Amino acid sequence: MSRYTSMEHLRFLLFEVHGIQDLFTYEYFAHLDPEQVTLMIDSAKALADRDMYPFFKEMDEQPVHYAGEGKVWSHPQLRTIIQNAAEQNWINGQYPFDLGGLQLPQMVYNAAHHIFQAANNGAQGYISLTTGAARLIHDYGTSELIETFLPPMFDGRWQGTMALTEPQAGSALTDITTVATPTESGYYHIKGQKIFISAGEHMACENFVHLTLARIAGAPPGLKGVSLFVIPKHRPTAGGGLEYNDVFCAGDYQKLGQRAYATTHLVFGEHDNCRGWLVGEPHKGLSYMFQLMNEARIGVGQTAASVAMAAYQASLQYARERSQGRKPGEKDPLKPPVPIIQHADVQRMLFTQKAIVEGSLSLAMECNRLADLMHVTEGEEQRPHWLLLEILTPIVKTYSSEQGNRSASLAIQVLGGYGYTVDFPVQQYYRDLRIMAIYEGTTGIQSLDLLGRKMTMENGAALTALAQHIDITIRTAAAHPVLQAQAAILQAEMERLGKTLRQLGKFAQSGNPERYLADATVFMEMAGYVVIAWQWLKMAVAAQIALDAADFSTQSKSFYEGKIHTMQFFFRYELPHAAACAEVLLAPGELTMLEEDERLD
Ligand SMILES: Cc1cc2nc3c(=O)[nH]c(=O)nc-3n(C[C@H](O)[C@H](O)[C@H](O)COP(=O)(O)OP(=O)(O)OC[C@H]3O[C@@H](n4cnc5c(N)ncnc54)[C@H](O)[C@@H]3O)c2cc1C
Repeated sequence: MSRYTSMEHLRFLLFEVHGIQDLFTYEYFAHLDPEQVTLMIDSAKALADRDMYPFFKEMDEQPVHYAGEGKVWSHPQLRTIIQNAAEQNWINGQYPFDLGGLQLPQMVYNAAHHIFQAANNGAQGYISLTTGAARLIHDYGTSELIETFLPPMFDGRWQGTMALTEPQAGSALTDITTVATPTESGYYHIKGQKIFISAGEHMACENFVHLTLARIAGAPPGLKGVSLFVIPKHRPTAGGGLEYNDVFCAGDYQKLGQRAYATTHLVFGEHDNCRGWLVGEPHKGLSYMFQLMNEARIGVGQTAASVAMAAYQASLQYARERSQGRKPGEKDPLKPPVPIIQHADVQRMLFTQKAIVEGSLSLAMECNRLADLMHVTEGEEQRPHWLLLEILTPIVKTYSSEQGNRSASLAIQVLGGYGYTVDFPVQQYYRDLRIMAIYEGTTGIQSLDLLGRKMTMENGAALTALAQHIDITIRTAAAHPVLQAQAAILQAEMERLGKTLRQLGKFAQSGNPERYLADATVFMEMAGYVVIAWQWLKMAVAAQIALDAADFSTQSKSFYEGKIHTMQFFFRYELPHAAACAEVLLAPGELTMLEEDERLD
């Protein structure tokens, strides 16, 4: 079987870079130890090797599709995948023992899901979507909702979804119009349509539980009028059975990638018989949903990193096996061609991929760790974790998906013509990855969030928290002679980021928010390079500690040397792009704020 991820890198992140062991000092996670975590991750890999990866190509070639009469055909293997993942607790692993969970840190859950994402990202989506939908019911629902919905969702029998998008309300969720009319029986009558709903209908589950945003009849317009509902396709009856709840799948979308993952159009209440149950308080739906969306954004960023990882591994293997051409300076045409991995340009493409995917995955793991710390702390102790996670979430989503796209494109380039054919998986990874910069909030929307909200929130406290953490890494790195040069470079880049932000801030202060935000995506790009440089310096510190101690009990010497080398590569080839972004951001005049659009003709 081809290699689709690096278990060595995953273990390095968990144990040596992000110190999962520290979490075990909290009571909630005290039942865990490193050996157990390693065993769990290894069994997740065995599951992915057996049930997921071998079907990756076939599930793309036989995509989910609308079969008429509200039904969506899905590959028969999907049921096996969901059932076996549920059995291994990869749906409910993070939930408390009393709900049948294993009280796992998000770091462990997402380490396993990284493997699934790299093995078969379309199939993995069904599993994590149910985990996330269940979380909203768990955190905000009544005990009755929890008892009714969570057990069959955790068993993998009922599929959870997130039903937000409507034809007129994609990025702007405040414009949704699905209506919920209260009844005297405690439930609401629901009427409306949702589009692009992932996993909204398929053959692998018996029922579908849609966590749906709707507006209670008469609610105020905008953000404040949106509420959250549980709307099952089949509703439980008093007698313990199920009856149809007037949720109809009207069609599906055939897509560029993720063709194993159903994307559906749902109609609620066509026959005025659709019931929904309010989750939490009325009019607070968007704030609840944002909690799930933040988690999902880390998940999408991580998925992008994982798919790009699989593409990198495929191109690395190919580059070692394919011979073509000779080294510059070799004049003898009778000499055999060399493996393409010996060409400097091929190495450049491979190191670029390694730098992007391993850096992105490290940032995702940093976010998973912060989510775990938030779970086990409260009040003032929780605040720094929350601030840091707030500012990193749009960055992990965006850097990983935008650069992941570039990385998978390079994977195709490494294979040359074969990379463009369906005989090799890199084109599928490339197609699958394209959606990551679109769903869960597009790159444009994430960038507005970063510059418009996160940079300024709590009087800049999130940015200060980020700067402090980066500063700790810089000072630690500066103590190692091998890392001093890059520590100084990162220091200078942080100063450039701060200066750029202060200059841009003048537009906001002078009452010109449109100009302040006009190049938010360029600012996002700059922040992404700097934050990933921080992650690479952090990884290099961990690698250098192991090299200094000559401790090669868990990883080989060349593994650690590879980390230092890739860090140097990132600082030389990637980080300089941040300066170009600053130049764009600070240039006088505007080119993208035209009132009329004729100049685009
Ligand atoms: C495969 C797939 C699966 C999906 N799964 C789900 C799901 O499970 N549940 C669900 O609810 N939704 C889902 N979606 C919907 C997805 O979240 C939306 O497509 C996405 O949020 C963008 O909305 P839109 O398509 O309406 O684009 P639009 O909002 O119309 O955006 C179009 C372009 O305009 C830009 N733009 C929009 N507003 C602004 C602004 N204010 N400032 C600057 N630029 C702006 C955007 O960045 C984008 O480039 C899915 C979509 C796809 C394609």
